[in-house]
Amino acid sequence: MAPGQFSMYVCGPTVYDLAHLGHGRYALVFDVLRRYLEWRGLKVRHVSNITDVDDKILDRAEAEHRSPSEVAEEFEEKWFSTMDRLGVLRPSYTPHATEYVDKMISLVESLLKVDAAYIGEDGVYFDTSKVSDYGLLARQSLDSLKAGARVAGKDFKRSPVDFVLWKFFDRSSWTWDSPWGPGRPGWHTECVVMSVDLLGEEFDLHGGGLDLSFPHHENERAQACVVHYKFSRHWVHNGFVMVGSEKMSKSLGNFTTLDDLLRSTDPRAYRLLVLQSHYRSPLDVNPQTVAEASRALVRLDSTYQRVVESGIDLATGGLDKAEVDRFVEAMDNDLDTPTASARLFELRSRVNQLLDDGKLSEAGTACVTMEHLFSSLGLFLSVPESSELPTHVRDLVEQREVARMEKNFALSDRIRNDLLALGYALEDTSLGQKVRRI
Ligand SMILES: [Zn+2]
Repeated sequence: MAPGQFSMYVCGPTVYDLAHLGHGRYALVFDVLRRYLEWRGLKVRHVSNITDVDDKILDRAEAEHRSPSEVAEEFEEKWFSTMDRLGVLRPSYTPHATEYVDKMISLVESLLKVDAAYIGEDGVYFDTSKVSDYGLLARQSLDSLKAGARVAGKDFKRSPVDFVLWKFFDRSSWTWDSPWGPGRPGWHTECVVMSVDLLGEEFDLHGGGLDLSFPHHENERAQACVVHYKFSRHWVHNGFVMVGSEKMSKSLGNFTTLDDLLRSTDPRAYRLLVLQSHYRSPLDVNPQTVAEASRALVRLDSTYQRVVESGIDLATGGLDKAEVDRFVEAMDNDLDTPTASARLFELRSRVNQLLDDGKLSEAGTACVTMEHLFSSLGLFLSVPESSELPTHVRDLVEQREVARMEKNFALSDRIRNDLLALGYALEDTSLGQKVRRI
């Protein structure tokens, strides 16, 4: 690809329901990748689609007596509002499947022309036997995939792993005209057409959750192979979100929306939790891991706050090059965010030690480096306002302010100790009382 440029396509959501924790993870993983590459100086062209034509959208629309496009628009809007809260950058391009139906029809026609597709009873199907290395992404042979495929129940299919490219008119009037009559495109075609249209026939990276590696990405690759696109040079799949020991899924009944999580959790804590696990590993999300991430975030913020309040001029501080190199070394090793963030937590301890030792200038440099490197991953440290303190803590702070004005030093000191017991340190400064998490 062109020097300094990076092109990535990430399969986006099917907009028929609220985003869940798994969506949040993949969005954060690819947001971190994109931000890191940009921080390293690459110009990233990031395409992520919206699947706005799908049976699940139709099912919901029928159940709610609404039009499918109304359902799709509602959940697309909700998707982006949740992603905004998570601090996920908007993609450079967000193509919609419904805008690409003509191009999908053209691709299906090309596949039919070279005999890599055939017409079945209810649609046009892709003939997987025409791709010699089908199963490459799943690292399985065609024979084992066939054996593992669910009984299709469709006698006309040449193989159980053959997949639909175009669905003929069935129960709905939500159709597009095609050479095969009115119908709807199959899911696996849209990403081939949209990625090639916006990134070219060869691009750098194609990503998504692990559940997309087979069959979705395999089927995209199969179509691209037949029409001789070089297609994606790298495939990146992030691991599942686990709730307890089970893979999170709606059918298991452990479905949790991102909005549920963000009602009680700082969105940055979910980003930190995602960072602390390697993108290919499963991520365990439960009240304990979320609470640990939240506490770790509070520790980062409080160190940052300590430095800010110590009066060190952070604007003039340079970066600690050795620390930057350690960070880059970890990140360049297959995006090893757990090691990179562990190194930044070590740096945080060093900032505190330097402050304790009164080495303010060195503390400033270390703090600026920590803050800068976290922000390259989209995690921004903040100085909490006193209004963000829990109510019972805020009440104590106010009572102490009164005690101090009344020169009731015994009471004032007792309240200070009560705050310490709750994990808050209180300092008297020329600007008044300052409270920080320990
Ligand atoms: Zn896709």
